Amino acid sequence: EILSSFDVRLRQYAINQLVKSGVRLVRGIVKDVQPDKLILDNGEEVPYGLLVWSTGVGASSFVKSLPFPKSHGGRIVNRLCAVCRIGVDEWLRVPSVPDVFAVGDCCGFLESTGKEVLPALAQVAERQGLYLARLLNRVMKSGGGHANSQVEVDLGPKFVYKHLGSMATVGRYKALVDLRQSKDSKGISIAGFASWFIWRSAYLTRVVSWRNRLYVAINWLTTMIFGRDISRI
Ligand SMILES: Cc1cc2nc3c(=O)[nH]c(=O)nc-3n(C[C@H](O)[C@H](O)[C@H](O)COP(=O)(O)OP(=O)(O)OC[C@H]3O[C@@H](n4cnc5c(N)ncnc54)[C@H](O)[C@@H]3O)c2cc1C
Repeated sequence: EILSSFDVRLRQYAINQLVKSGVRLVRGIVKDVQPDKLILDNGEEVPYGLLVWSTGVGASSFVKSLPFPKSHGGRIVNRLCAVCRIGVDEWLRVPSVPDVFAVGDCCGFLESTGKEVLPALAQVAERQGLYLARLLNRVMKSGGGHANSQVEVDLGPKFVYKHLGSMATVGRYKALVDLRQSKDSKGISIAGFASWFIWRSAYLTRVVSWRNRLYVAINWLTTMIFGRDISRI
């Protein structure tokens, strides 16, 4: 399934757009990648000239090897934790080791927190990074944060994730925008040119510094007028 985080209507729109653009969608799980073809789980072979792998990635072997309790929902394959992430509590602490925190894709809530493991998204990682920066500032102001300074510090509110929505471009100035908290709740859920405009504007707000925003906006504009610049120096 492509774009599975979107509802059926938006997914169908994306499929139609991709098919219209000449994309052939093949459903299956890749079992093997060979120098000139992919092998799917049903035995089908898909020949290729250039392969671009853009699916999600699992936990790195380094994260898997760490001797910390892992988040719940991990898949065990051949007695090894295949997608396990470092288990954290509601303050993003690794409970078994003092003064160690984990944020982003490498971590997930421990089962004891009763919380769902959050999706591996930039949106989650960014929010956790900001939360942790504020928490560490609070620790420093309370006299902690130094070597051998075992002070009891109030860590403040727990980390709470509020989903701001999902966006995806499907090319040719078309995109999907779903600003609802979940697929069943009310809110904006649209597809087409307006979505593409919202998608672009939203990404511009995430670029660091006004200078870079200006560079990016000018680059988009020149690409629209003159086409994509594929020259390399
Ligand atoms: C193809 C693809 C498309 C995606 N699209 C989206 C999207 O549209 N929207 C969205 O919100 N999210 C998307 N994501 C997910 C998003 O990229 C991640 O959730 C986000 O980057 C996680 O941030 P992070 O800081 O946890 O990890 P990363 O961004 O992966 O940063 C981890 C860093 O640690 C470094 N590192 C790893 N191991 C070591 C080590 N042993 N020593 C030192 N450094 C190390 C890595 O090199 C890397 O720089 C996508 C992911 C993929 C793979």
